[in-house]
Amino acid sequence: MRPDTRLVRFDPAPGDPHRPTATPIYQTATFAQPDGLHPEGHDYSRSGNPTRAVLEGVLADLEQATHAFAFASGMAAVSAVARLVPAGGRVVAGDDLYGGTWRLLARILARYQVQLVLVDPADLGAWEAALPGAHLALVETPTNPLLRVVDLEGLATRCRAHGVPLAVDNSVMSPLLQQPLALGADLVIHSATKFLGGHSDLTAGAVCTSDPDLAEALYLVQNGEGAGLGPFDSFLLLRGIKTLSLRLERQQANTRAVARALVDHRAVRRVHWVGLPDHPGAALHARQATGAGSVLSFETGSPSLSAAVVDHTRCFTTAVSFGGVASSIELPGAMSHASIPDGQRSLPRDLVRVSVGIEDPLDLVEDLVDSLDRASRQTRRGALAAPSPAP
Ligand SMILES: *Cc1c(COP(=O)(O)O)cnc(C)c1O
Repeated sequence: MRPDTRLVRFDPAPGDPHRPTATPIYQTATFAQPDGLHPEGHDYSRSGNPTRAVLEGVLADLEQATHAFAFASGMAAVSAVARLVPAGGRVVAGDDLYGGTWRLLARILARYQVQLVLVDPADLGAWEAALPGAHLALVETPTNPLLRVVDLEGLATRCRAHGVPLAVDNSVMSPLLQQPLALGADLVIHSATKFLGGHSDLTAGAVCTSDPDLAEALYLVQNGEGAGLGPFDSFLLLRGIKTLSLRLERQQANTRAVARALVDHRAVRRVHWVGLPDHPGAALHARQATGAGSVLSFETGSPSLSAAVVDHTRCFTTAVSFGGVASSIELPGAMSHASIPDGQRSLPRDLVRVSVGIEDPLDLVEDLVDSLDRASRQTRRGALAAPSPAP
């Protein structure tokens, strides 16, 4: 069966005598055993739960992995992968990382003397120089919020040559648009809070792999640290995943309309979206993914104008995160990526990130154009009214 079919066609409740058509929420901490000597099936929900097991089966299937592990958040998933690095080890990562991932690697892993080396993610030569002796390579593509594209096959070949496991954070794409394991990665990470859940009503994360040793190590962390996803959130995530394909189709079409309107607007200097033909990574992205996604960013040349645009929109909620059915808008430097200190970050201060939802595209375009018009009038007036700066 093809992926769109597999999103809804799977056994929702293996072994359940009532044969429900939706996966039940097995809201229980413990499972009774036949006797004291012969443990059978699940025993304790931290170690394994039927609702989570169905979810993990669906996630593994979508990423073409043999194993998937569901966690309480995307950060818990990244953290489980970071546990594979020994004390005193080294992580090489792309420098346009999710802010929370940077905080984990730079501030928490530093307690275990783990060294973090950041490289330009699109520069394979920089990876090649940094990989020898490393214990983990971690990358996002397209990166968020700057939408730079990384050659996953090229990077996987280099990682393999140096014996360094490659983890790809695939949250911005979802498994339907890009499958890093098929391109040579060892681990795929998701913040399922984003596209997989899709409704901004839960936080969840996942790690997928087809390497039995990595799977064993990840299960030790999931069971041993106890950050596995609970049964109710597993149910919500299973429910969200069923409409992933429909949501993505509409979201990507809407993003195309929004990107075109932004490109055409006088107040916009640059639009970053891999679906635009003049994006520097467009051709590479098209080779390794089947869609451009629905996260884009743009620059206006003026931080105050960008802040005013964010304030004026009505069809875009001012909120972090992305991938939900409702559109959102934010200033990454001040919001989603604020945990990265200024010296460590190369984010333009006028950068606006947009996550496009499933609304009517005409409403989205009208609202954004109107906000840009009003914000530019307001900033022009402000500039005229302000006293001229001293020479
Ligand atoms: C949001 C995000 C995370 C963290 O996920 P949470 O569910 O918020 O913990 C990790 N990586 C990327 C790329 C993200 O966008």
